[in-house]
Amino acid sequence: GFKCGIVGLPNVGKSTLFNALTKTAAAQAANYPFCTIEPNTGEVAVPDPRLYQIAKIAGSKEIIPTRISFVDIAGLVRGASKGEGLGNQFLANIREVDAIVHVLRCFEDDDITHVEGRIDPVADAETVETELMLADLESLERRAVNVRKRAQAKDKESMTVLPMMEQAIALLNEGKPVRLLRKDIAHEDLAILEGLNLLTSHPVLYVCNVAEGDAATGNEHTRAVEAMAAAQGASTIIISAAIEAEVAQLSDDEAREFLAEMGLEEPGLDRLIRAGYDLLHLITYFTVGPKEARAWTVERGTKAPAAAGVIHTDFERGFIRANTIAFADFVALGGEQAAKEAGKARDEGKEYVVQDGDIMHFRFNT
Ligand code: GDP
Repeated sequence: GFKCGIVGLPNVGKSTLFNALTKTAAAQAANYPFCTIEPNTGEVAVPDPRLYQIAKIAGSKEIIPTRISFVDIAGLVRGASKGEGLGNQFLANIREVDAIVHVLRCFEDDDITHVEGRIDPVADAETVETELMLADLESLERRAVNVRKRAQAKDKESMTVLPMMEQAIALLNEGKPVRLLRKDIAHEDLAILEGLNLLTSHPVLYVCNVAEGDAATGNEHTRAVEAMAAAQGASTIIISAAIEAEVAQLSDDEAREFLAEMGLEEPGLDRLIRAGYDLLHLITYFTVGPKEARAWTVERGTKAPAAAGVIHTDFERGFIRANTIAFADFVALGGEQAAKEAGKARDEGKEYVVQDGDIMHFRFNT
């Protein structure tokens, strides 16, 4: 599955947020028996109103959302790249994730110690980023020595990897994170970048953790973070971990009422989960029938056979074709049969690139 790693300095609200996420996930677990929750990893359903719409139209008995994982990565302190604190464990954990959710303390509270003794989320972000960049630079420079030698000896693999390594090293030496390379990179080269297994190559989402009263409006700190993120082409969301912790304990109706009092339309966690999903460049397709309506996750750009493989490897191996209805057509026409009659159910082959919201029916040989 796809994983977002939650990072940030100590005492910024990571665990509070993570616990709220897993509490929500635990509440869902009763309905979705395949949900596994490890101590520092929580799988959560991706909130998607479209799934409920198509289930209603098709009269599906069961609704099964798609899921992504969040990992609580504790242990980042100044000096982590040098093995301070839980440094090494931290670095190992963060390498395994696909995207970074960076929690920044944007709330004042004299009772909660700030490790740096002041509230300055932009400076905190720089502290964390610096540790990650130092770790990347060290690891790249160590590996580059051999890769350069082998590339000179015309080793194919090394010749492919080296230019990306050198670009990454140059960026880091300028004090910039490797993720900046993602912008202008060809799709094939993204795999090379990801193969380097770096810390700062992951896309990042900044989460501004604010006091309850600032959840609807933000504050001067969140505005500073937004300006910083905009300059990096990163996104931000404003959340109050304290509110989320409370909401996670309430029933749906109670939660709605509580959120409305706070001037909020939906749980911040729903926004966080969706933002994490976008960050990972994931899209959703649906399968629907009288038994169940179900959402499935693939990376943007995935072709039909690989998308079918998410359901079962046999579907990919024996792929013949996919019958596809766009979500908008399915809803506008009122279901599969009507869409077929209107000529909106398309037969697509192996080269078809699955679109977000597609309703898919795969045909395959067993
Ligand atoms: P972590 O070290 O980043 O995982 O931080 P924790 O989630 O353990 O939070 C550290 C402390 O800050 C705990 O006592 C939390 O209750 C408190 N805290 C977290 N979020 C908020 C918040 O939004 N407002 C206030 N006032 N306290 C918070």
